[in-house]
Amino acid sequence: MSLYNDVEKVLVSEEQIQQRIKELAGEMNAIYSDDNPPLLVCILKGAYMFLSDLTRHLTFRHELDFMEISSYGHSTKSSGIVRILLDLAASIENRHVVIVEDIVDTGNTLDYIIRNMSTRNPASLRVATLLNKPSRRILEVPVDFVGFEVPDEFVIGYGLDFAEQYRNLPFIGVLKAEVYQNWDQ
Ligand code: 5GP
Repeated sequence: MSLYNDVEKVLVSEEQIQQRIKELAGEMNAIYSDDNPPLLVCILKGAYMFLSDLTRHLTFRHELDFMEISSYGHSTKSSGIVRILLDLAASIENRHVVIVEDIVDTGNTLDYIIRNMSTRNPASLRVATLLNKPSRRILEVPVDFVGFEVPDEFVIGYGLDFAEQYRNLPFIGVLKAEVYQNWDQ
């Protein structure tokens, strides 16, 4: 299958992801309850798979909302320019909010989201990210729940794309260099 042939190596297996998500849900179940239910804000598109597996293990009542932020397009390099493509449907004023992200890389995107949401006066604001690439950080951002730390490589799968492809892979992997070299030229 050509999709799988493009993968150089698997960094985090499907089993590792599912196990870690159960643990993260356990951390959240210890903090939130039906008395202080959070709104989970999924950052599209990359976090959709993480959100859907995470919520299955949450025991408190909660609502979902979605925000879409501009992505890298067809490149593996960030432009550093962040734009909201789809905003939240409802007000977050006086509500507990958990931002659900796919990966924190330079921190530009999350910094923008946090600053933007803070102006809307939530009761509290926490961040859950499946992946963290601390070696690439330019802006310090607070992250409360982290799935895995990954090295400085462009990763795909489990919601993360390259040129809108590979999101459906059930693991986190690295593409063969020739796949993105052709795009970046
Ligand atoms: P940052 O603003 O922290 O540099 O990047 C955040 C966003 O860039 C992520 O939400 C994700 O959409 C994208 N991104 C950063 N690193 C990677 C990566 O290694 N692979 C993929 N597919 N997207 C990434």
